[in-house]
Order: sequence, then structure tokens, then C-alpha cells
Amino acid sequence: MVTSAELIASSDAHSAHNYHPLPVVVSTADGAWMTDVEGKRYLDMLAGYSALNFGHGHPRLVAAAKAQLDRVTLTSRAFHHERFAEFCAALGELCGKEMVLPMNTGAEAVETAVKTARKWGYRVKGVPDGRAKIVVAENNFHGRTTTIVSFSTDEEARADFGPYTPGFEIVPYGDLAALEAAVDEDTVAVLLEPVQGEAGVLVPPAGYLAGVRELTRSRNVLFVADEIQSGLGRTGATFACAHEDVVPDMYVLGKALGGGVVPVSAVVADRDVLGVYRPGEHGSTFGGNPLACAVGLEVVAMLRTGEYQERARELGEHLHRELGLLTGEGVVREVRGRGLWAGVDIDPAHGTGREISERLMERGVLVKDTHGSTLRIAPPLVISKEDLDWGLDQLRAVLAG
Ligand SMILES: *Cc1c(COP(=O)(O)O)cnc(C)c1O
Repeated sequence: MVTSAELIASSDAHSAHNYHPLPVVVSTADGAWMTDVEGKRYLDMLAGYSALNFGHGHPRLVAAAKAQLDRVTLTSRAFHHERFAEFCAALGELCGKEMVLPMNTGAEAVETAVKTARKWGYRVKGVPDGRAKIVVAENNFHGRTTTIVSFSTDEEARADFGPYTPGFEIVPYGDLAALEAAVDEDTVAVLLEPVQGEAGVLVPPAGYLAGVRELTRSRNVLFVADEIQSGLGRTGATFACAHEDVVPDMYVLGKALGGGVVPVSAVVADRDVLGVYRPGEHGSTFGGNPLACAVGLEVVAMLRTGEYQERARELGEHLHRELGLLTGEGVVREVRGRGLWAGVDIDPAHGTGREISERLMERGVLVKDTHGSTLRIAPPLVISKEDLDWGLDQLRAVLAG
């Protein structure tokens, strides 16, 4: 049998080193658990950065995918297919919006949002050609394309990839006055994550999202919410914007929309926004394919009952209560987050986030560090309370050791 060590060495030899994975080689997975090639089991406390909100191999999602595999998997948008209208109608209804534009990855959906906002700016708002401006936040993460890294403030993500796309202004996250000062008559959109995931699960100050909503509405600017990681149940609501009763003009969705089975992303907005497109102006060979629509449709059906949002809310309260007990012990400096989603800052004296993650891995828990000494905890929403408690026990043991 091939060992983990051999597979990792082979991976290092034959793949670009654009990631630094923990030294575990997953072979199978079920629910909140993954098993490596040696048969050791690990509790998944990352959930594919929220792409696995419903866990690994959820029976409903696997059944939906299998049923569609036997029918038709790809048509391209040159033809209509049976699942397309149903998926768009269902997702639109979940979002309370009139139109959906399906893509595949999160970055593509963000690109679509940028293009849509610019086109809306020129065609509807009347911004002079070539002048459209989009205001974004510091420490954002919206994906990896050349345009998206153009407005990243993370040097690692950005350096050596210029020349950069112009048309973006960066303001501090959570600072309404700075945002207000940046919005001018050429501004077509404010693009924000309602909770900044990669930045370390940063929740903005209370009232910020509502303030952004008010400002954008009064200045005729689109509020584009990147809910790729925060949306679809993670925070205890279908959308993180809902915690402040905010409805943005455009939702950008991805990750969990594909149920952990296939990449599915989408931009969702009303007709006055997404209605700007004419045939040929934007597209994707795979966007809205039958397999993606079948899985996405099942994801929407699962979210409609509210049970996953409820789980995220209840288990999230428990998670934050337990993590709160770890603060003030000199090890954990701060715990942030919302729902079943937490950023835990470890005192760097205790080790880097990477080192803590490796020690957790040895104890059978998989998490991912971000920005030096922050751990990101985001288990699948289907995790049992017992498993969550066991995972927290391992964290406690690692921090005590
Ligand atoms: C993951 C993520 C993206 C990019 O999604 P990909 O599918 O990796 O392209 C964009 N925005 C946010 C907030 C994300 O978390």
C-alpha cells in the first residue's frame, strides 16, 4: 500500500507549491469525519472553508448528483436543460431576488459581480465611460484572479501579478466614515464580505452593515455582499447580512452552494441589476450545468427548512461559550465569529497557528491556520454536539500542553 509520506513526497515533486497542506492524505470521508490512507480518522473542523457546510457525502446531495449523472451532465448554455429554470427560480426565491446568473467558482462569481456592477453603472446609473469605481475593504478576500488580486491588500496574494486592474478604492473594514468619504458620483458598487473569513473571521462593528446599506441606497450605489463563505447557513442565518436585517443589492454565492460535490457559484440580484445583460456579453461553458443545478437545487431545498441555520445557531452558541472559557488563560487572546464559525487568536508565545494545527492533527482534529497565530474553526453544520465537544477537548489539551 502507498503510504501518506510517499504520496506527500510525490505531490511535492509533481504539483505547484501554491499551498502548504497539513501532512495528512485523505482517502475517504463521511459527515464531519475524514479517514486517511493509513485508516486514521480525523474530525473535519474546517469544512472546506464552508464548501462542506452539509458535511462529506450528505445522502441527499449524493443522491441528487447520482440521479443527475444518469440523465445529462453538461449541455453548455447553447441549449436549455431541464434543471436550469428550476434551480434559478429556487435560488432566487431563497435570496428574495428576481434573477440568478450561475457560474462555477467563487472568484468567477466575484468577477461577474464586478462586471455587472460596472455595466449597471454605465447603462443605468449613467457613469461616464471608463470611470466606474468599486469601493472594497482592507484585508478582503474575494478570490485569486488578476482583477481580484488587484484590490487585495495581502502582499502574498498580490505581489508579482501586476499590472493591476484599476477602478477600485480600498477603505478600512468596519469604518463607515471612511466608506462614505470614498463613495463619489462614479462609484457603482461597494463590495464587502459581511464577515471577513480569510482575514480571521472578522465580524464588523454592530450597525456597520446597516450603515453600508443606508449609504449605498441614498447614493445610488450597489451594495454587493460576498457571502461565498459567510452565506448558506454558516453564521446561523441563510445570509450573514440578515443579522443586521440587511438585504444587499447583489448576493455573491459559492462554496456551500455546490454541496461539497461540484463547484457551483452564482450572482443573485433583481432585474434592474442583472437585467443589464444581453446575449454574448458574459458567460461560462460550465456555469449552470445540469449536474451543478441538480446539486444546487438540493442545497437550496435543504436550506429552505431552516434546520441547518438553526443547528449553526445553537452549536455556534455552544462553540463560542466554550471558546470563551479559553480566553484570559494567556493562551487564547481573542475569539471572534458568528454561528458555527470562529477565529481564535493564539498567543504567539504558544506557537504559530501552523504548529497548533499540526498538534491538533496529531490528536485527530483538522483545522487551518490563517495569518500567523489565528486558527479558523468552521466544522460542517451537521457535526454532532458530542463530536464538537471532543474536538474542543483536543484543542484544550493542545493549548494546555
Ligand atoms: C473562497 C472565497 C472566494 C473565492 O472562491 P473560489 O471558489 O476559491 O474561487 C471569494 N470570496 C470569499 C469571501 C471566499 O471565502
